[in-house]
Amino acid sequence: MPAPAPPIPVLVVGSGPTGLTLAIDLARRGVGVRIIDKSARFPRSSRAKGPNPRSLEVLEDLGVIDAVLAAGAAPLPMRKYRGGVAIADAEPYAGLRPTPDAPYDRPRMIAQWQLEEVLRARLAEYGVRVELGSELVALAEGEASVTATLAGGGRIEASYVAGCDGGHSAVRKLLGIPFEGRTAETQQMVCGDVEIEGLDRGFWHQWFDEDGAVMLCPIPGTRSGWWFQAGPETDASGAPVPPSLAGFRRLFAKHTGLPGDRLTEATLLSTYRVNERMAARYRVGRAFLAGDAAHVHSIAGGLGMNTGIQDAYNLGWKLARVVSGLAGPALLDTYEEERLPVAAEVLDISGQRLRATLEAIRKPGGGLDSAVGPGTNGLGGGYRWSSLAASPLATSRLRPGDRAPDAPCRDATTGAPIRLFDAFAGPHFTLLGFGTGTTRALREATAAHGEDLRAYGVDAPGPYEPGHHAGGPYGLADHAGHARSAYGIGPDDDLLVLVRPDNHVGLIARSDDGRAVAEIAAHLGGIPYSGTECRS
Ligand SMILES: Cc1cc2nc3c(=O)[nH]c(=O)nc-3n(C[C@H](O)[C@H](O)[C@H](O)COP(=O)(O)OP(=O)(O)OC[C@H]3O[C@@H](n4cnc5c(N)ncnc54)[C@H](O)[C@@H]3O)c2cc1C
Repeated sequence: MPAPAPPIPVLVVGSGPTGLTLAIDLARRGVGVRIIDKSARFPRSSRAKGPNPRSLEVLEDLGVIDAVLAAGAAPLPMRKYRGGVAIADAEPYAGLRPTPDAPYDRPRMIAQWQLEEVLRARLAEYGVRVELGSELVALAEGEASVTATLAGGGRIEASYVAGCDGGHSAVRKLLGIPFEGRTAETQQMVCGDVEIEGLDRGFWHQWFDEDGAVMLCPIPGTRSGWWFQAGPETDASGAPVPPSLAGFRRLFAKHTGLPGDRLTEATLLSTYRVNERMAARYRVGRAFLAGDAAHVHSIAGGLGMNTGIQDAYNLGWKLARVVSGLAGPALLDTYEEERLPVAAEVLDISGQRLRATLEAIRKPGGGLDSAVGPGTNGLGGGYRWSSLAASPLATSRLRPGDRAPDAPCRDATTGAPIRLFDAFAGPHFTLLGFGTGTTRALREATAAHGEDLRAYGVDAPGPYEPGHHAGGPYGLADHAGHARSAYGIGPDDDLLVLVRPDNHVGLIARSDDGRAVAEIAAHLGGIPYSGTECRS
Protein backbone atom coordinates (compact mmCIF):
# COMPACT_ATOMS: atom_id res chain seq x y z
CA MET A 1 0.00 0.00 0.00
CA PRO A 2 1.40 3.45 -0.86
CA ALA A 3 2.30 5.60 2.15
CA PRO A 4 -0.33 8.25 2.89
CA ALA A 5 0.56 11.72 1.59
CA PRO A 6 2.03 13.99 4.28
CA PRO A 7 -0.34 16.70 5.50
CA ILE A 8 -0.29 20.02 3.68
CA PRO A 9 1.22 22.60 6.09
CA VAL A 10 -1.71 25.03 6.00
CA LEU A 11 -5.28 24.81 4.72
CA VAL A 12 -6.97 28.20 4.32
CA VAL A 13 -10.78 27.99 4.31
CA GLY A 14 -12.37 30.93 2.47
CA SER A 15 -11.01 33.08 -0.34
CA GLY A 16 -12.20 36.53 0.70
CA PRO A 17 -9.63 39.26 1.37
CA THR A 18 -8.55 37.61 4.64
CA GLY A 19 -7.93 34.15 3.22
CA LEU A 20 -6.17 35.49 0.13
CA THR A 21 -3.86 37.71 2.21
CA LEU A 22 -2.95 34.79 4.44
CA ALA A 23 -2.37 32.44 1.51
CA ILE A 24 -0.05 34.97 -0.21
CA ASP A 25 1.86 35.61 3.01
CA LEU A 26 2.42 31.86 3.43
CA ALA A 27 3.15 31.14 -0.23
CA ARG A 28 5.76 33.89 -0.47
CA ARG A 29 7.58 32.20 2.39
CA GLY A 30 7.58 28.90 0.52
CA VAL A 31 5.05 27.32 2.90
CA GLY A 32 2.76 24.75 1.28
CA VAL A 33 -0.78 26.10 1.34
CA ARG A 34 -4.15 25.18 -0.16
CA ILE A 35 -7.05 27.63 -0.21
CA ILE A 36 -10.60 26.43 -0.68
CA ASP A 37 -13.91 28.24 -1.15
CA LYS A 38 -17.41 26.85 -1.14
CA SER A 39 -18.52 29.18 -3.93
CA ALA A 40 -18.76 27.68 -7.38
CA ARG A 41 -17.29 30.84 -8.87
CA PHE A 42 -15.21 33.66 -7.47
CA PRO A 43 -17.39 35.53 -5.04
CA ARG A 44 -18.42 38.97 -6.20
CA SER A 45 -20.31 41.15 -3.77
CA SER A 46 -21.12 44.82 -3.25
CA ARG A 47 -19.15 45.29 -0.06
CA ALA A 48 -15.91 46.98 1.02
CA LYS A 49 -14.80 50.16 -0.70
CA GLY A 50 -11.09 49.72 -0.16
CA PRO A 51 -8.01 49.34 2.01
CA ASN A 52 -7.20 51.87 4.71
CA PRO A 53 -3.66 53.29 5.15
CA ARG A 54 -2.42 50.40 7.30
CA SER A 55 -3.77 47.81 4.87
CA LEU A 56 -2.07 49.70 2.04
CA GLU A 57 1.22 49.23 3.92
CA VAL A 58 0.47 45.50 4.17
CA LEU A 59 -0.41 45.33 0.48
CA GLU A 60 2.87 47.11 -0.33
CA ASP A 61 4.78 44.44 1.57
CA LEU A 62 2.85 41.72 -0.28
CA GLY A 63 3.94 43.24 -3.61
CA VAL A 64 0.51 44.34 -4.90
CA ILE A 65 0.49 48.03 -4.07
CA ASP A 66 1.05 49.21 -7.66
CA ALA A 67 -1.83 47.08 -8.91
CA VAL A 68 -4.12 48.28 -6.11
CA LEU A 69 -3.26 51.94 -6.66
CA ALA A 70 -3.71 51.54 -10.42
CA ALA A 71 -7.09 49.79 -10.17
CA GLY A 72 -8.39 52.11 -7.44
CA ALA A 73 -9.01 55.81 -7.02
CA ALA A 74 -8.59 58.47 -4.36
CA PRO A 75 -11.57 58.84 -2.01
CA LEU A 76 -14.09 61.28 -3.43
CA PRO A 77 -15.54 64.35 -1.80
CA MET A 78 -18.98 63.73 -0.35
CA ARG A 79 -21.97 65.76 -1.55
CA LYS A 80 -24.82 65.85 0.92
CA TYR A 81 -28.44 66.61 0.09
CA ARG A 82 -31.62 67.33 2.03
CA GLY A 83 -34.99 67.19 0.33
CA GLY A 84 -33.19 66.50 -2.95
CA VAL A 85 -31.14 69.73 -2.74
CA ALA A 86 -27.33 69.71 -2.39
CA ILE A 87 -26.52 71.60 0.79
CA ALA A 88 -22.96 70.70 1.78
CA ASP A 89 -19.77 69.11 0.47
CA ALA A 90 -17.21 67.42 2.71
CA GLU A 91 -13.72 66.05 2.13
CA PRO A 92 -12.82 64.06 5.22
CA TYR A 93 -9.20 63.55 4.11
CA ALA A 94 -8.61 67.05 2.70
CA GLY A 95 -6.20 68.19 5.42
CA LEU A 96 -4.06 65.06 5.28
CA ARG A 97 -0.73 64.57 3.50
CA PRO A 98 1.65 61.62 3.37
CA THR A 99 4.38 62.05 5.99
CA PRO A 100 7.89 60.56 6.07
CA ASP A 101 6.78 57.96 8.62
CA ALA A 102 3.39 57.11 7.01
CA PRO A 103 3.32 57.08 3.21
CA TYR A 104 -0.44 56.48 2.86
CA ASP A 105 -2.57 59.27 4.29
CA ARG A 106 -5.99 58.05 3.14
CA PRO A 107 -7.76 54.88 1.98
CA ARG A 108 -7.74 53.85 -1.65
CA MET A 109 -11.17 53.25 -3.19
CA ILE A 110 -11.34 49.88 -4.92
CA ALA A 111 -14.21 47.42 -4.96
CA GLN A 112 -13.65 44.39 -2.76
CA TRP A 113 -14.02 42.06 -5.74
CA GLN A 114 -11.40 44.06 -7.66
CA LEU A 115 -9.00 43.81 -4.73
CA GLU A 116 -9.67 40.08 -4.56
CA GLU A 117 -8.79 39.81 -8.26
CA VAL A 118 -5.47 41.54 -7.59
CA LEU A 119 -4.76 39.23 -4.64
CA ARG A 120 -5.68 36.10 -6.61
CA ALA A 121 -3.33 37.14 -9.41
CA ARG A 122 -0.51 37.58 -6.88
CA LEU A 123 -1.25 34.19 -5.32
CA ALA A 124 -1.19 32.57 -8.76
CA GLU A 125 2.38 33.87 -9.20
CA TYR A 126 3.32 31.41 -6.45
CA GLY A 127 1.44 28.63 -8.22
CA VAL A 128 -1.46 28.60 -5.74
CA ARG A 129 -5.03 28.77 -7.00
CA VAL A 130 -8.31 28.97 -5.10
CA GLU A 131 -10.08 25.60 -5.17
CA LEU A 132 -13.68 26.57 -5.87
CA GLY A 133 -16.72 24.46 -5.07
CA SER A 134 -14.96 23.06 -1.98
CA GLU A 135 -17.10 23.51 1.11
CA LEU A 136 -15.66 22.54 4.46
CA VAL A 137 -18.24 20.60 6.49
CA ALA A 138 -16.25 18.85 9.21
CA LEU A 139 -12.97 19.12 11.09
CA ALA A 140 -11.25 16.44 13.12
CA GLU A 141 -8.04 17.11 14.97
CA GLY A 142 -5.51 14.32 15.37
CA GLU A 143 -2.19 14.30 17.17
CA ALA A 144 -0.10 15.99 14.50
CA SER A 145 -2.64 17.24 11.98
CA VAL A 146 -6.24 18.16 11.39
CA THR A 147 -8.49 16.57 8.79
CA ALA A 148 -10.97 18.73 6.93
CA THR A 149 -13.92 17.00 5.28
CA LEU A 150 -15.53 18.65 2.28
CA ALA A 151 -19.13 18.45 1.13
CA GLY A 152 -19.00 15.54 -1.30
CA GLY A 153 -16.68 13.56 0.95
CA GLY A 154 -13.20 14.76 -0.08
CA ARG A 155 -10.67 15.11 2.71
CA ILE A 156 -7.70 17.39 3.22
CA GLU A 157 -5.18 16.70 5.96
CA ALA A 158 -3.27 19.76 7.12
CA SER A 159 -0.88 20.66 9.92
CA TYR A 160 -2.94 23.81 10.54
CA VAL A 161 -6.30 25.16 9.36
CA ALA A 162 -7.20 28.85 9.12
CA GLY A 163 -10.91 29.63 9.11
CA CYS A 164 -11.22 32.73 6.96
CA ASP A 165 -14.74 31.73 6.01
CA GLY A 166 -16.69 34.86 6.86
CA GLY A 167 -19.32 35.85 9.41
CA HIS A 168 -21.19 32.52 9.19
CA SER A 169 -17.90 30.64 9.60
CA ALA A 170 -18.26 26.86 9.50
CA VAL A 171 -14.83 26.57 11.12
CA ARG A 172 -15.93 28.68 14.08
CA LYS A 173 -19.11 26.65 14.52
CA LEU A 174 -17.30 23.31 14.17
CA LEU A 175 -14.81 24.41 16.82
CA GLY A 176 -17.70 25.36 19.11
CA ILE A 177 -16.39 28.91 19.59
CA PRO A 178 -19.09 31.29 20.85
CA PHE A 179 -19.67 34.39 18.70
CA GLU A 180 -20.70 36.85 21.36
CA GLY A 181 -22.48 40.15 20.76
CA ARG A 182 -25.67 41.43 19.21
CA THR A 183 -27.54 41.75 15.96
CA ALA A 184 -29.38 45.07 15.59
CA GLU A 185 -32.44 44.13 13.54
CA THR A 186 -33.51 47.76 13.36
CA GLN A 187 -30.28 48.94 11.69
CA GLN A 188 -30.58 47.56 8.17
CA MET A 189 -29.45 48.66 4.75
CA VAL A 190 -29.98 47.44 1.21
CA CYS A 191 -26.88 47.38 -1.00
CA GLY A 192 -26.01 46.63 -4.59
CA ASP A 193 -24.00 47.66 -7.63
CA VAL A 194 -26.13 49.76 -10.00
CA GLU A 195 -25.77 51.45 -13.37
CA ILE A 196 -26.74 55.11 -13.58
CA GLU A 197 -26.14 57.66 -16.31
CA GLY A 198 -25.96 61.40 -15.84
CA LEU A 199 -24.83 61.64 -12.22
CA ASP A 200 -21.60 63.56 -11.48
CA ARG A 201 -18.92 60.90 -10.88
CA GLY A 202 -16.75 63.37 -9.00
CA PHE A 203 -18.74 62.89 -5.77
CA TRP A 204 -20.01 60.29 -3.34
CA HIS A 205 -23.65 61.49 -3.27
CA GLN A 206 -25.58 61.17 -0.01
CA TRP A 207 -29.26 62.03 0.30
CA PHE A 208 -30.52 62.02 3.88
CA ASP A 209 -34.13 62.74 4.79
CA GLU A 210 -36.31 62.28 7.88
CA ASP A 211 -37.59 58.98 6.52
CA GLY A 212 -34.53 57.41 4.95
CA ALA A 213 -31.40 57.78 2.88
CA VAL A 214 -29.77 56.87 -0.44
CA MET A 215 -26.00 56.87 -0.93
CA LEU A 216 -24.36 56.48 -4.34
CA CYS A 217 -20.62 56.24 -4.87
CA PRO A 218 -18.98 55.66 -8.28
CA ILE A 219 -17.14 52.33 -8.51
CA PRO A 220 -13.56 52.99 -9.70
CA GLY A 221 -12.63 51.31 -12.95
CA THR A 222 -16.21 51.26 -14.26
CA ARG A 223 -17.84 53.72 -16.67
CA SER A 224 -21.28 53.94 -15.11
CA GLY A 225 -21.18 51.57 -12.14
CA TRP A 226 -22.14 52.85 -8.68
CA TRP A 227 -22.31 51.43 -5.18
CA PHE A 228 -25.92 51.85 -4.01
CA GLN A 229 -26.71 51.83 -0.30
CA ALA A 230 -30.02 52.86 1.22
CA GLY A 231 -32.31 52.40 4.16
CA PRO A 232 -34.71 49.60 3.12
CA GLU A 233 -38.34 50.06 2.11
CA THR A 234 -40.73 48.53 4.57
CA ASP A 235 -44.01 46.70 4.01
CA ALA A 236 -47.34 47.40 5.71
CA SER A 237 -46.20 45.50 8.81
CA GLY A 238 -42.99 47.54 9.00
CA ALA A 239 -40.79 44.64 7.86
CA PRO A 240 -37.93 45.49 5.45
CA VAL A 241 -38.63 44.70 1.79
CA PRO A 242 -35.91 42.60 0.06
CA PRO A 243 -33.81 44.63 -2.42
CA SER A 244 -34.74 44.73 -6.13
CA LEU A 245 -34.17 47.01 -9.12
CA ALA A 246 -37.75 48.29 -8.81
CA GLY A 247 -37.27 49.01 -5.10
CA PHE A 248 -33.94 50.77 -5.72
CA ARG A 249 -35.65 52.93 -8.36
CA ARG A 250 -38.40 53.89 -5.93
CA LEU A 251 -35.88 54.78 -3.21
CA PHE A 252 -33.76 56.72 -5.70
CA ALA A 253 -36.74 58.71 -7.01
CA LYS A 254 -38.08 59.38 -3.51
CA HIS A 255 -34.87 60.76 -2.02
CA THR A 256 -33.16 62.37 -5.04
CA GLY A 257 -36.20 63.81 -6.79
CA LEU A 258 -34.73 62.42 -10.05
CA PRO A 259 -36.53 59.93 -12.32
CA GLY A 260 -36.15 56.39 -10.99
CA ASP A 261 -35.54 54.95 -14.46
CA ARG A 262 -32.15 56.69 -14.57
CA LEU A 263 -31.11 53.60 -12.66
CA THR A 264 -30.85 50.92 -15.32
CA GLU A 265 -29.40 47.84 -13.67
CA ALA A 266 -28.93 46.51 -10.15
CA THR A 267 -26.79 43.49 -9.32
CA LEU A 268 -25.16 41.89 -6.26
CA LEU A 269 -28.18 42.82 -4.16
CA SER A 270 -28.09 42.20 -0.45
CA THR A 271 -29.61 43.32 2.84
CA TYR A 272 -27.10 44.23 5.49
CA ARG A 273 -27.84 44.09 9.24
CA VAL A 274 -25.55 45.64 11.82
CA ASN A 275 -23.95 42.83 13.80
CA GLU A 276 -21.49 43.44 16.59
CA ARG A 277 -19.95 40.15 17.54
CA MET A 278 -16.58 38.64 18.19
CA ALA A 279 -15.28 35.15 18.73
CA ALA A 280 -14.46 34.20 22.31
CA ARG A 281 -11.26 32.52 21.08
CA TYR A 282 -9.18 32.73 17.93
CA ARG A 283 -7.61 29.32 18.23
CA VAL A 284 -8.54 25.79 19.16
CA GLY A 285 -5.62 23.41 18.80
CA ARG A 286 -4.47 23.47 15.20
CA ALA A 287 -7.31 25.64 13.91
CA PHE A 288 -7.44 29.45 13.83
CA LEU A 289 -10.04 32.08 13.00
CA ALA A 290 -9.35 35.30 11.09
CA GLY A 291 -11.37 38.10 9.49
CA ASP A 292 -15.17 38.14 9.63
CA ALA A 293 -15.05 34.59 11.00
CA ALA A 294 -13.61 36.14 14.16
CA HIS A 295 -15.36 39.52 14.32
CA VAL A 296 -18.20 41.40 12.64
CA HIS A 297 -19.38 44.95 13.25
CA SER A 298 -20.97 47.95 11.61
CA ILE A 299 -19.44 49.15 8.34
CA ALA A 300 -19.06 52.68 9.78
CA GLY A 301 -15.34 53.45 9.63
CA GLY A 302 -14.74 50.82 6.93
CA LEU A 303 -12.83 48.48 9.20
CA GLY A 304 -14.20 44.98 8.50
CA MET A 305 -12.12 43.90 5.55
CA ASN A 306 -9.19 45.93 6.82
CA THR A 307 -9.15 44.16 10.16
CA GLY A 308 -9.30 40.81 8.36
CA ILE A 309 -6.32 41.71 6.15
CA GLN A 310 -4.39 42.76 9.25
CA ASP A 311 -5.35 39.55 11.13
CA ALA A 312 -3.94 37.54 8.25
CA TYR A 313 -0.75 39.60 8.22
CA ASN A 314 -0.24 38.86 11.92
CA LEU A 315 -0.94 35.13 11.54
CA GLY A 316 0.98 34.49 8.30
CA TRP A 317 4.55 34.90 9.48
CA LYS A 318 3.87 33.09 12.74
CA LEU A 319 2.38 30.03 11.03
CA ALA A 320 5.21 30.07 8.50
CA ARG A 321 7.93 30.17 11.15
CA VAL A 322 6.35 27.38 13.15
CA VAL A 323 5.74 25.02 10.22
CA SER A 324 9.27 25.72 8.95
CA GLY A 325 10.78 24.90 12.35
CA LEU A 326 12.21 28.42 12.76
CA ALA A 327 10.14 29.06 15.88
CA GLY A 328 8.46 26.98 18.53
CA PRO A 329 4.66 26.45 18.58
CA ALA A 330 4.26 28.96 21.45
CA LEU A 331 4.61 31.71 18.84
CA LEU A 332 1.14 30.74 17.59
CA ASP A 333 -0.40 31.61 20.96
CA THR A 334 0.57 35.23 20.37
CA TYR A 335 -1.87 35.47 17.42
CA GLU A 336 -4.95 35.47 19.66
CA GLU A 337 -3.06 37.40 22.33
CA GLU A 338 -2.38 40.21 19.88
CA ARG A 339 -5.38 40.22 17.59
CA LEU A 340 -8.35 39.49 19.86
CA PRO A 341 -7.95 42.79 21.79
CA VAL A 342 -7.67 44.57 18.44
CA ALA A 343 -11.08 43.18 17.43
CA ALA A 344 -12.58 44.43 20.70
CA GLU A 345 -11.18 47.88 19.96
CA VAL A 346 -12.43 47.78 16.37
CA LEU A 347 -15.93 46.92 17.61
CA ASP A 348 -15.72 49.98 19.88
CA ILE A 349 -14.44 52.28 17.14
CA SER A 350 -17.01 51.18 14.56
CA GLY A 351 -19.78 51.49 17.18
CA GLN A 352 -18.65 55.04 17.97
CA ARG A 353 -18.47 55.91 14.27
CA LEU A 354 -21.95 54.47 13.70
CA ARG A 355 -23.43 56.50 16.55
CA ALA A 356 -21.62 59.65 15.39
CA THR A 357 -22.95 59.13 11.85
CA LEU A 358 -26.54 58.45 12.94
CA GLU A 359 -26.39 61.57 15.09
CA ALA A 360 -24.88 63.69 12.29
CA ILE A 361 -27.42 62.72 9.63
CA ARG A 362 -30.32 63.86 11.80
CA LYS A 363 -29.24 67.40 10.99
CA PRO A 364 -29.07 68.92 7.51
CA GLY A 365 -25.50 68.76 6.19
CA GLY A 366 -24.58 65.63 8.13
CA GLY A 367 -23.18 62.66 6.26
CA LEU A 368 -20.77 59.76 6.06
CA ASP A 369 -17.79 61.99 6.78
CA SER A 370 -18.72 61.37 10.42
CA ALA A 371 -17.83 57.70 9.88
CA VAL A 372 -14.19 58.72 9.42
CA GLY A 373 -12.41 59.40 12.68
CA PRO A 374 -9.71 58.45 15.15
CA GLY A 375 -8.68 54.85 14.64
CA THR A 376 -10.13 54.33 11.17
CA ASN A 377 -6.78 54.64 9.34
CA GLY A 378 -5.44 51.61 11.20
CA LEU A 379 -2.07 53.26 11.85
CA GLY A 380 -2.31 53.66 15.61
CA GLY A 381 -2.55 49.98 16.35
CA GLY A 382 0.16 48.07 18.13
CA TYR A 383 0.61 45.14 20.46
CA ARG A 384 2.20 46.67 23.54
CA TRP A 385 0.46 44.12 25.77
CA SER A 386 1.87 41.15 23.86
CA SER A 387 4.31 38.73 25.46
CA LEU A 388 6.42 39.32 22.34
CA ALA A 389 6.65 42.99 23.35
CA ALA A 390 7.70 42.47 26.95
CA SER A 391 11.27 43.72 26.56
CA PRO A 392 11.33 46.92 28.61
CA LEU A 393 13.56 49.30 26.65
CA ALA A 394 11.65 52.04 24.79
CA THR A 395 12.58 55.25 22.97
CA SER A 396 10.88 58.62 23.22
CA ARG A 397 8.52 57.59 20.36
CA LEU A 398 8.33 53.80 20.28
CA ARG A 399 7.81 50.78 22.48
CA PRO A 400 8.05 47.12 21.51
CA GLY A 401 4.79 46.09 19.83
CA ASP A 402 4.27 49.42 18.03
CA ARG A 403 3.92 49.70 14.27
CA ALA A 404 7.42 50.29 12.86
CA PRO A 405 7.32 53.63 11.00
CA ASP A 406 8.64 54.34 7.53
CA ALA A 407 11.38 56.92 6.82
CA PRO A 408 13.09 58.04 3.61
CA CYS A 409 16.86 57.40 3.84
CA ARG A 410 19.73 56.96 1.38
CA ASP A 411 21.82 53.93 0.60
CA ALA A 412 25.08 54.65 2.43
CA THR A 413 27.12 53.15 -0.42
CA THR A 414 25.39 54.45 -3.55
CA GLY A 415 23.44 57.43 -2.23
CA ALA A 416 20.27 56.06 -3.90
CA PRO A 417 16.98 56.79 -2.08
CA ILE A 418 15.71 53.90 0.03
CA ARG A 419 12.81 53.90 2.48
CA LEU A 420 12.73 51.85 5.64
CA PHE A 421 9.66 50.12 4.16
CA ASP A 422 11.89 48.99 1.26
CA ALA A 423 14.22 47.49 3.84
CA PHE A 424 11.33 45.76 5.65
CA ALA A 425 9.57 44.46 2.51
CA GLY A 426 9.70 40.68 2.35
CA PRO A 427 9.40 37.79 4.77
CA HIS A 428 12.48 38.52 6.91
CA PHE A 429 13.07 40.24 10.25
CA THR A 430 14.93 43.57 9.96
CA LEU A 431 17.53 44.78 12.44
CA LEU A 432 18.19 48.52 12.44
CA GLY A 433 21.35 49.65 14.16
CA PHE A 434 21.26 53.38 14.93
CA GLY A 435 24.68 54.85 15.65
CA THR A 436 28.32 53.97 15.31
CA GLY A 437 28.37 51.58 18.25
CA THR A 438 25.95 49.09 16.66
CA THR A 439 28.24 47.74 13.93
CA ARG A 440 29.48 44.73 15.87
CA ALA A 441 26.01 43.60 16.98
CA LEU A 442 24.73 43.97 13.39
CA ARG A 443 27.54 41.75 12.10
CA GLU A 444 27.02 39.11 14.77
CA ALA A 445 23.28 39.01 14.25
CA THR A 446 23.74 38.77 10.46
CA ALA A 447 26.21 35.92 10.83
CA ALA A 448 23.85 34.07 13.17
CA HIS A 449 20.64 34.36 11.14
CA GLY A 450 21.54 34.57 7.46
CA GLU A 451 18.54 35.21 5.23
CA ASP A 452 16.14 35.22 8.15
CA LEU A 453 17.33 38.68 9.16
CA ARG A 454 18.42 41.73 7.23
CA ALA A 455 20.60 44.13 9.15
CA TYR A 456 21.01 47.83 8.41
CA GLY A 457 23.40 50.27 10.01
CA VAL A 458 21.79 53.71 10.17
CA ASP A 459 24.57 56.29 10.16
CA ALA A 460 26.90 53.53 11.35
CA PRO A 461 30.32 52.97 9.76
CA GLY A 462 30.69 50.26 7.06
CA PRO A 463 31.99 48.58 5.06
CA TYR A 464 28.64 47.42 3.76
CA GLU A 465 27.49 44.80 1.32
CA PRO A 466 26.03 46.04 -1.96
CA GLY A 467 22.33 45.40 -2.70
CA HIS A 468 19.57 44.60 -0.24
CA HIS A 469 18.60 41.05 -0.99
CA ALA A 470 19.69 38.95 1.97
CA GLY A 471 21.80 39.09 5.06
CA GLY A 472 23.76 42.34 5.22
CA PRO A 473 24.62 44.41 7.06
CA TYR A 474 23.73 47.20 4.66
CA GLY A 475 24.24 50.86 5.26
CA LEU A 476 21.63 53.59 5.42
CA ALA A 477 22.25 57.31 5.68
CA ASP A 478 19.55 59.08 7.64
CA HIS A 479 20.40 62.22 5.69
CA ALA A 480 17.35 64.23 6.74
CA GLY A 481 16.98 62.77 10.22
CA HIS A 482 13.57 61.23 9.44
CA ALA A 483 14.48 57.76 10.71
CA ARG A 484 15.86 58.98 14.04
CA SER A 485 12.88 61.27 14.45
CA ALA A 486 10.29 58.55 13.67
CA TYR A 487 12.03 56.07 15.97
CA GLY A 488 12.61 58.63 18.75
CA ILE A 489 16.36 58.07 18.74
CA GLY A 490 18.73 60.93 19.61
CA PRO A 491 21.89 61.75 17.63
CA ASP A 492 24.17 60.23 20.26
CA ASP A 493 22.12 57.11 20.98
CA ASP A 494 23.42 53.69 19.95
CA LEU A 495 20.33 51.50 19.73
CA LEU A 496 19.25 48.32 17.98
CA VAL A 497 15.64 48.05 16.81
CA LEU A 498 14.38 44.64 15.71
CA VAL A 499 11.42 44.87 13.31
CA ARG A 500 9.15 41.83 12.96
CA PRO A 501 8.13 40.49 9.56
CA ASP A 502 4.74 42.20 10.00
CA ASN A 503 6.51 45.52 10.53
CA HIS A 504 5.97 45.90 14.25
CA VAL A 505 8.80 46.64 16.65
CA GLY A 506 9.95 43.35 18.19
CA LEU A 507 12.44 44.75 20.62
CA ILE A 508 14.74 47.67 21.31
CA ALA A 509 18.17 46.97 22.78
CA ARG A 510 21.30 48.89 23.65
CA SER A 511 24.21 47.90 21.46
CA ASP A 512 26.55 47.73 24.45
CA ASP A 513 24.28 45.20 26.11
CA GLY A 514 26.21 41.96 25.85
CA ARG A 515 22.97 39.95 25.67
CA ALA A 516 21.39 41.92 22.83
CA VAL A 517 22.29 39.42 20.10
CA ALA A 518 21.02 36.51 22.21
CA GLU A 519 17.83 38.39 22.87
CA ILE A 520 17.37 38.92 19.15
CA ALA A 521 17.91 35.20 18.56
CA ALA A 522 15.30 34.35 21.19
CA HIS A 523 12.83 36.71 19.54
CA LEU A 524 13.39 35.11 16.14
CA GLY A 525 12.68 31.76 17.75
CA GLY A 526 9.35 33.04 19.03
CA ILE A 527 10.47 32.92 22.65
CA PRO A 528 8.78 35.67 24.67
CA TYR A 529 11.15 37.97 26.52
CA SER A 530 11.86 36.45 29.91
CA GLY A 531 13.18 39.56 31.59
CA THR A 532 15.81 37.60 33.48
CA GLU A 533 18.89 37.78 31.35
CA CYS A 534 19.12 40.94 29.30
CA ARG A 535 18.77 44.32 30.95
CA SER A 536 19.24 47.74 29.53
C1 LIG B 1 -22.34 46.67 2.46
C2 LIG B 1 -21.00 46.39 3.03
C3 LIG B 1 -20.02 47.36 2.97
C4 LIG B 1 -18.77 47.14 3.53
N1 LIG B 1 -17.83 48.11 3.47
C5 LIG B 1 -16.61 47.90 4.01
C6 LIG B 1 -15.59 48.88 3.88
O1 LIG B 1 -15.79 49.93 3.30
N2 LIG B 1 -14.38 48.61 4.43
C7 LIG B 1 -14.11 47.42 5.06
O2 LIG B 1 -12.97 47.22 5.54
N3 LIG B 1 -15.06 46.46 5.16
C8 LIG B 1 -16.29 46.66 4.66
N4 LIG B 1 -17.24 45.70 4.73
C9 LIG B 1 -16.92 44.43 5.42
C10 LIG B 1 -16.16 43.47 4.51
O3 LIG B 1 -16.87 43.24 3.33
C11 LIG B 1 -15.87 42.18 5.24
O4 LIG B 1 -15.32 42.49 6.50
C12 LIG B 1 -14.92 41.28 4.47
O5 LIG B 1 -15.55 40.71 3.35
C13 LIG B 1 -14.38 40.15 5.34
O6 LIG B 1 -13.50 39.39 4.57
P1 LIG B 1 -13.25 37.85 4.92
O7 LIG B 1 -12.26 37.38 3.92
O8 LIG B 1 -12.93 37.72 6.36
O9 LIG B 1 -14.66 37.14 4.72
P2 LIG B 1 -15.55 37.04 3.42
O10 LIG B 1 -15.25 38.14 2.47
O11 LIG B 1 -16.95 36.88 3.88
O12 LIG B 1 -15.05 35.70 2.71
C14 LIG B 1 -15.35 34.43 3.26
C15 LIG B 1 -15.24 33.39 2.17
O13 LIG B 1 -15.37 32.10 2.77
C16 LIG B 1 -16.15 31.28 1.92
N5 LIG B 1 -16.74 30.23 2.76
C17 LIG B 1 -17.73 30.37 3.68
N6 LIG B 1 -17.98 29.19 4.28
C18 LIG B 1 -17.15 28.28 3.71
C19 LIG B 1 -16.95 26.88 3.90
N7 LIG B 1 -17.67 26.16 4.80
N8 LIG B 1 -16.03 26.24 3.14
C20 LIG B 1 -15.29 26.95 2.23
N9 LIG B 1 -15.46 28.27 2.00
C21 LIG B 1 -16.37 28.93 2.75
C22 LIG B 1 -17.16 32.22 1.30
O14 LIG B 1 -17.66 31.71 0.07
C23 LIG B 1 -16.33 33.50 1.11
O15 LIG B 1 -15.73 33.55 -0.16
C24 LIG B 1 -18.50 45.90 4.17
C25 LIG B 1 -19.48 44.90 4.22
C26 LIG B 1 -20.71 45.15 3.67
C27 LIG B 1 -21.76 44.07 3.75
